[in-house]
Amino acid sequence: MVEMARKQLPEGVLFEAICETGVCLPDAVQLLTPCTLGNGRIHVIHVGRYALTLYDKTTGKGARVFVDAVKLAAWPEINGWFLKLKPKAEQDSGRLLAEIEDAGTGLLGVQRAVVDISRIAKTKIGPVSLCPKCGEAYPLSDGGLCGGCLGRLPYV
Ligand SMILES: [Zn+2]
Repeated sequence: MVEMARKQLPEGVLFEAICETGVCLPDAVQLLTPCTLGNGRIHVIHVGRYALTLYDKTTGKGARVFVDAVKLAAWPEINGWFLKLKPKAEQDSGRLLAEIEDAGTGLLGVQRAVVDISRIAKTKIGPVSLCPKCGEAYPLSDGGLCGGCLGRLPYV
């Protein structure tokens, strides 16, 4: 999917990625491109679609690659697994892997996409201060105490 999208971009363009699910896709983008969650060049937008877009960071022009449900129908084992049509116990994992290998990119669709750059959330932290309770640095935009001291972490 990453390769298909990248082929649509001009060589050498500085690009970013949108993943429409947090499941698996960000890992692939991180492994195969310079975009990472840490450097802020992957934007995970949780709409639950198995799709990713690579786009020119400046112009927003890029390509979206998605699992095409029409093409998917030709691969019964993948179709059943992807759409959760049968319980895991009834799935034939050998056949599933064989179908995935045979299908390759054949079950994907690719389309042009233009990203509205102004709607991409910036990951700027802003002013930082030391939390008066724990003494650790935190973004002042969180308020008078850090999020940890406000009980946002699951530590017991
Ligand atoms: Zn604190």
